[in-house]
Amino acid sequence: MQLQYLLEICYLIAAVLFVAGLKMLGNPKTARKGNLLAAGGMTLAIFATIFMHRDELGAPIGNYTWIFFAIAVGTVIGTVSARRVKMTAMPQMVSLFNGMGGACAALISLVEYGHEASHTEGSTLLTILAGLVIGSISFSGSMIAFAKLQELMKKSIRFPAHHLINIAILIVIGLLCGYMLMNDGDNAFVFYLIFVLSLVYGVMFVVPIGGADMPVVISLLNSFTGLAAAFGGFLYHNQVMLTGGILVGSAGTLLTVAMCNAMNRSLLNVVFGSMGSNSGVDTSDSTGGTVKPTTVSDTAILLNYAQKVIIIPGYGLAVAQAQHIVHEVESILESRNVDVRYAIHPVAGRMPGHMNVLLAESNVSYDKLLEMDQINDDFATTDVVLVIGANDVVNPAARNNPASPIYGMPILNADKARTVIVMKRSMAAGYAGIDNELFGYPNCLMLFGDAKATLTKIVGELKAM
Ligand code: NDP
Repeated sequence: MQLQYLLEICYLIAAVLFVAGLKMLGNPKTARKGNLLAAGGMTLAIFATIFMHRDELGAPIGNYTWIFFAIAVGTVIGTVSARRVKMTAMPQMVSLFNGMGGACAALISLVEYGHEASHTEGSTLLTILAGLVIGSISFSGSMIAFAKLQELMKKSIRFPAHHLINIAILIVIGLLCGYMLMNDGDNAFVFYLIFVLSLVYGVMFVVPIGGADMPVVISLLNSFTGLAAAFGGFLYHNQVMLTGGILVGSAGTLLTVAMCNAMNRSLLNVVFGSMGSNSGVDTSDSTGGTVKPTTVSDTAILLNYAQKVIIIPGYGLAVAQAQHIVHEVESILESRNVDVRYAIHPVAGRMPGHMNVLLAESNVSYDKLLEMDQINDDFATTDVVLVIGANDVVNPAARNNPASPIYGMPILNADKARTVIVMKRSMAAGYAGIDNELFGYPNCLMLFGDAKATLTKIVGELKAM
């Protein structure tokens, strides 16, 4: 009995650590510690459960060899992949790990259906079904998101009446769950059919998503996994699993809403998988003007004699690993009394907060990183905007072209500045697969080349001035 109290105290401490960790993750300065704190809470919860949990007859969990073997395998895979993963591949890894969380929730339901469902009350069965459906959708959806981010799947796929098929699958899943509940879960075939249909829905839900809408889907799938884990907590009457699941679910939902606002999409659109898709087709207009290449020395001169400079980092900055060298450019310009700030678009890069994490790595001061709403009005009074490896987030088509897949997405107003210098390797499109009309604007200059190599040359030129 006393062990039970001790276990609950451990759970309480773990839950407090989750909440405190999550709070600290909200600020780049404390995020690292917050992550460690929450991980510490999870470690405590896991080991307390393994050693202190007792069933109704007072028997311990047992199976220690299997449990520690699985923990060892998971730890090795997790550590090696986290150490090896490139910063730019982080979103794929997050998707993959998120999918594993969904798979775990679905597996719990699959296992517990055999153990309990047929001889327990409806609420247990409901919990099992909810974990199965949400966990499976999260798993298969995350795998498709992984394939898309890893560029294993380059085109978005949209079947005729895709939207209706998705709704139909959801209705069938709902009806089958109702049937199971009315029959006390007494039909294994229907149970496994629900499992398969949920996997299919997850795939169907994510395959058509194209354009620039993936961030919303990724955070939504994340919240699904949290919710599925919370149902596992209900099932096992395990408070810490419940708390952890609810925290992930609600944090994911809040992030989804924030991403929806950033992308100017409604959550309903997301849920029914009807968000803008480019179906892999370039639906854009062209750049609509003469593209003007510029040189490293001209760029250095423009920067050196500017009063106000805004740097817009994007996915290409992460690919080039140019975060340290851009900080050096910023420091040189600051030492010459140029006002330099960074404009961070909420979906720049390939995961929420990507640019903040990247620039934090090179110790860029946090107060120089400004969100879109904070800085968008300042572009009109800015001398030079340096767009480094960003594309979709500065594409004026989002404002001007109703036919564009990114139409309606708020963008950074780089085009309003006196001069815009876009640094990228070619005229290739960004993630949304569309041309950028900014590149043809009269105030826009293109500086072609790898961002890191070009910035290194700019540093050389600036130092020589
Ligand atoms: P984009 O993907 O629009 O553009 C990145 C640009 O970087 C490319 O046009 C590419 O051009 C250039 N680039 C690539 N490598 C280099 C390099 N080594 N040196 C210089 N340039 C390089 O990036 P943005 O950040 O502007 O926009 C993010 C996009 O990703 C949005 O559409 C967003 O919706 C989507 N997305 C965002 C997620 C998130 O959570 N943040 C998740 C999933 C998708 P080139 O090849 O010519 O060099």
